[in-house]
Amino acid sequence: MVIFALQITLILTDIIHLLPDNIANQIAAGEVIQRPASAVKELLENAVDAGATEIKLIVNDAGKALVQVIDNGKGMSETDARLAFERHATSKISKIDDLFSIKTMGFRGEALASIAAVAQVELKTRREDDASGTFIEIENSKIVKQEPVAFNVGTSIAMKNLFFNVPARRNFLKSNTAELKHIVDEFTRVAMAFPDIFFSLQSNGQEVFHLEKGNLKQRIVQLLGNHYNAKMVSVQEQTDYLNIMGFVGKPETAKKTRGDQYIFVNNRFIKSPYLNHAIVNAFSDLISKESFPMYALFIDLDPAQLDVNVHPTKQEIKFEDDKIVYAFVNAAVKHALAQFSITPTLDFELDATIQNMDAVSKPVSDEQRSSTASSSLYRAFTQKNQAHFIERGSDLKHWKDFYEPESVQKESITASTPNQQQFYTKEENTFPVFQLHQTYIVTQKSSGFVIIHQQNAHERVLYEKYTRAVAGSPIATQQSLFPSTIELSPADALLVTEMVSDLKELGYQLEPFGQHTFVIQGTPADVVSGNEKNAIEKIIEQYKHFSNDLKFSKREKLLRSMAMQNAIKPQTTLSEKEMTALVNDLFACESASTTPNGKPTFMRFDKEEMDRMFGK
Ligand code: ADP
Ligand code: MG
Repeated sequence: MVIFALQITLILTDIIHLLPDNIANQIAAGEVIQRPASAVKELLENAVDAGATEIKLIVNDAGKALVQVIDNGKGMSETDARLAFERHATSKISKIDDLFSIKTMGFRGEALASIAAVAQVELKTRREDDASGTFIEIENSKIVKQEPVAFNVGTSIAMKNLFFNVPARRNFLKSNTAELKHIVDEFTRVAMAFPDIFFSLQSNGQEVFHLEKGNLKQRIVQLLGNHYNAKMVSVQEQTDYLNIMGFVGKPETAKKTRGDQYIFVNNRFIKSPYLNHAIVNAFSDLISKESFPMYALFIDLDPAQLDVNVHPTKQEIKFEDDKIVYAFVNAAVKHALAQFSITPTLDFELDATIQNMDAVSKPVSDEQRSSTASSSLYRAFTQKNQAHFIERGSDLKHWKDFYEPESVQKESITASTPNQQQFYTKEENTFPVFQLHQTYIVTQKSSGFVIIHQQNAHERVLYEKYTRAVAGSPIATQQSLFPSTIELSPADALLVTEMVSDLKELGYQLEPFGQHTFVIQGTPADVVSGNEKNAIEKIIEQYKHFSNDLKFSKREKLLRSMAMQNAIKPQTTLSEKEMTALVNDLFACESASTTPNGKPTFMRFDKEEMDRMFGK
């Protein structure tokens, strides 16, 4: 290879050449269409832009074999149908000024060209006034067939065999479960933003969603599950600067997993850790720190206040003045929650720890109510032209820490790992044990003493136990006398479906029950009765923290998640018996000295060294 390259440079001193069209095309396309779900997003948005009132999405093989969107929108003329697949062909803007008043979801004219570069495409379309429709077949960006066709008013675009001509990309696609989850995510985001459009999703011949036209509240419940019915608070504030409307879940619906959280700006789904913080912060002590409230909020503002050059497929956004937007969103949610607290409708399902929190158990005083009403933020909403009176939030500094998952936060321990081989023996510990700071266990071990970090040690012990479980020594399941059900978002339900068999080996027996619901038939004996649902939600949450980590297999992620999640936390008092058991279990491990992530589990202090230190 190297020799070959050398010879070439000897002959040709100029080395730059233009990429052939088809390669350049495929590279550009790859940025827009990364996976079947990207095509789903683009095709659904095109159907919305075409004014459709009914949109059907059909996928086969998680979109790898087929993604088809059928709409009853305005259709295309024969010429437009051909042009639509050219790069930079769009009907949505014609001059640069249009960029600042975009009302459509798309405008770059890239999507169809990109799809046509990396898949086989079949288009059928007809406008209302045309006697017959147009059928076009495209492969490698070339029209290979075109003929008139009888067709309903509207458009059907089928994308077949994605990346059939770019095998390297095809190999990068994930499992069908993972790709389908991405598709459901995109579908949910578009369907939520347009509740007055009928949507359906069919996967491998089975209808997964059938969403009748309705209002936003009905749409949210259809998409995220019935358990939100009557458990949402409406958020609605209008000002000159921006409008906010939508719903947040009542505190008792907060989950242990992030997921049911949606922010839309001008009806476009966006991801914004910053605004997420504004919303979650408004819940302050209504929910515990580890739980995630549901929200679906729509922010509308003058497009001139947004940076349009942020790429639309990236779902990021830049506001002209993000601090004002933060303050508005935060105040709008606080206001909505304050109104809800005035007439508490807490019920028995509420978590006891939440029930006991001051903010929930104490009735809202008149004083608090009037202080909400008199805050400058509240006034800013109710008076016109007051946007600039908003106090710049002082608690914005830490929003980043808040958003970072625990596993990413910096570890402050810098310890050298003891060489376990020469140090410990696996026999039972007969020395006294005691606990320091409810976090460390101290005990004597052969030629010295050890300080064990109880959480790290337990994580190691559990990890090895779980590894053995999936390798053929399953953990016993304790059957529930009164099996409870757990309802998940469609995305989380797919995730759990993926884990069901491994979970079984680990003692959790889950059975699918209806669309996104599982019955918890049994859990390991150490899960306290009544706590089953919580235990499973926590596993899902922890698992999601790993979900972008490609180095681990699904099973490995699950084992690590469960070990992390179930390990004894610091600040937990342990009995002598528990401590002895943990010490013994730890030193019986294959790799006792670190957690699966490589944090030390114990520090060792050698007696001879100590003697030397004391001049003995
Ligand atoms: P963009 O949406 O950015 O304009 P696309 O490549 O997605 O670019 O689509 C190109 C053009 O094809 C659109 O501007 C529109 O005129 C037309 N088009 C695409 N999909 C549809 C559809 N479902 N119904 C009617 N016209 C469509
Ligand atoms: Mg488009």
